[in-house]
Amino acid sequence: VLEARGMSKQFGDHRVLEDINLAVKGSEVVCLIGPSGSGKSTLLRCLAFLEAYDDGDVFVEGELLGYDRGANGRRLRSRPARLREVRRDMGMVFQQFNLWPHMSVIDNVMEALVRVRGMKRDEARRLALEVLDKVGLPEKADVWPSRLSGGQQQRVAIARSLAMSPAIMLFDEPTSALDPELVGEVLQVMKQLAEEGMTMVIVTHEMGFAAQAADRVIFLDQGHILEQGVPKQLFRAPRTERLAQFLQNYL
Ligand code: ATP
Ligand code: MG
Repeated sequence: VLEARGMSKQFGDHRVLEDINLAVKGSEVVCLIGPSGSGKSTLLRCLAFLEAYDDGDVFVEGELLGYDRGANGRRLRSRPARLREVRRDMGMVFQQFNLWPHMSVIDNVMEALVRVRGMKRDEARRLALEVLDKVGLPEKADVWPSRLSGGQQQRVAIARSLAMSPAIMLFDEPTSALDPELVGEVLQVMKQLAEEGMTMVIVTHEMGFAAQAADRVIFLDQGHILEQGVPKQLFRAPRTERLAQFLQNYL
């Protein structure tokens, strides 16, 4: 579904990602962990081309993301319409939920369906109610986002993303802005998505969640994939001192 080959990224002369190779299969749940500044967010942003990667390739459903091959084999930035088309299969959820404050919950969820997908309002409304039901908020459809808790707002953000029926969803620390008692309800929704076979890449500091929900955990350190494996192996028997040290902080 999603593949990075030899991807690198630098900001100025600071190389933030180096030779990232990563292939995510359908229905796979990959959790990205690593110290602050190791490049997790940058990696996720490059995988969505919110940030342009420098070298290597990223493919979404087999399509090159963000660039097109020119006639002479050189690559050029994709036009916005082409980028949108390739990115169409991706959903993204961030730490900050960024709901429209002046729109009801259901309008938030419907907005892109109507405006981007050109869906009829009643059809979009039906679909929006369906996904709100999925995240456990069917009764909040007509409420303002400001009346919801952070956990509920984040679940609306997930619903908004789900409504576009993405083939893969990317999450960047979706629970780290939440009060501790609200974290569980969001993780629960993500676990449910995982069980339903959604393909997901999740940056998280929730090691318990990663241990339970991930098919594979990737440890990023200084812009490199230092270790990866099934959670059991990675958490119980880290092969590098760096990972062992990192995990110490979560015991
Ligand atoms: P955290 O756990 O704190 O969210 P992270 O693993 O997500 O950290 P990134 O945000 O990807 O780390 O940052 C990786 C490195 O890239 C850091 O050194 C950061 O300072 C640098 N960086 C990130 N974004 C930019 C930017 N827009 N311009 C310059 N440097 C940046
Ligand atoms: Mg980050």
